Amino acid sequence: MLRRDFIKTSAALAAAAALPGCKVPASGGGTDALVLDWRPYTGQLKYTFTIATYSRTQTPLVLTRLRWKDYVGYGEAAMPQYLGESTESVTAFLQKVSEQVLPRHRDPFRMEDLLSEVDALSMRDTAAKAAVDIALHDLVGKILGRPWWQLWGLDRENTPCTSYTIGYDASDDIVNEKITEASWTKVVKVKLGMGEQEDKRMVNLIRARLDTVICVDANQGWKSKEMALDMINWLAERNVCLVEQPMAKEDLDAAAWITERSPLPVIADEACQRLADIPRLKGAYHGINIKLMKCTGMREAHKMATVARALGMEVMLGCMTETSAAISAAAQLSPLARWADLDGNILLSNDCFDGMRLTNGKITLNDRPGIGAEPLKPFEKL
Ligand code: MG
Repeated sequence: MLRRDFIKTSAALAAAAALPGCKVPASGGGTDALVLDWRPYTGQLKYTFTIATYSRTQTPLVLTRLRWKDYVGYGEAAMPQYLGESTESVTAFLQKVSEQVLPRHRDPFRMEDLLSEVDALSMRDTAAKAAVDIALHDLVGKILGRPWWQLWGLDRENTPCTSYTIGYDASDDIVNEKITEASWTKVVKVKLGMGEQEDKRMVNLIRARLDTVICVDANQGWKSKEMALDMINWLAERNVCLVEQPMAKEDLDAAAWITERSPLPVIADEACQRLADIPRLKGAYHGINIKLMKCTGMREAHKMATVARALGMEVMLGCMTETSAAISAAAQLSPLARWADLDGNILLSNDCFDGMRLTNGKITLNDRPGIGAEPLKPFEKL
């Protein structure tokens, strides 16, 4: 380690140690190499998850652990099939990070350099990159003894309520069962795009039982801009707060036409993967849905929220089906978001982390350093 880096690291540790209630563990003994481990994990869904393009009952995950001296950070990749990543591709990518990037770094605080090198390894692999990014953020937060919401200077009172997703089902009985399970939430999210008749049936079933606000996600499922606008006008009379991705992500002209006429905010999800996508979406959508697995993790997600807000666009925070590790990581940013859809951990029957909690549906950020989540078992046994 260079002398100036050593002084910087020592000063950060001393500053963290001086903060009240902040315990900095002894860091002697270990090596100063960054060591990455990973474990494949299968996220089991409580219900079959059906959206306009496919159905699934499981989500492949890869859990990561990054060690430096005596500190440990945790991260995660979630790979729903539409992202095009798999356990094999994530594992191969993490191997590359271990062999080609980490040996060049001894200082976890140089996150910009380290994560830029990880990003440069490939054009895609965004979930695999997020698994490294989240673990590094967790590690650095733990070295500093502070959670990221605090390191970013955010007010944890300003978190939104999370929505809870009710997926499509052809059976009224199953939809009603899901509605009963969602009765605690302040905001329901419903997946549409199955055709006008089925979409209205889903909303009517929910509206008959719950008077909460509804977020609608069409997942690119509406086939014409006129039909989409008719649906949005119908939804606007039913206490709906926003519509996500009404039409195909490539069709910016249709999105702009709808957004210009829509009484509800129109949010880009599939159309907005990374930071560089945002400028061209201004004017075509009212806002963007930021997800760690799409955008390579917390570092870029924070930049995306900043850029979107600077462009006068709304920010929504979303997720894949993820454990409380990645959900807690995303939740650190939630004071920057108007809406949050961070329910991936609740949709799992085998969440293996304890992290961000909900209080009457509102995201409640804890004081734990880093991403605010810890594994329920030793990493080797997950
Ligand atoms: Mg969506």
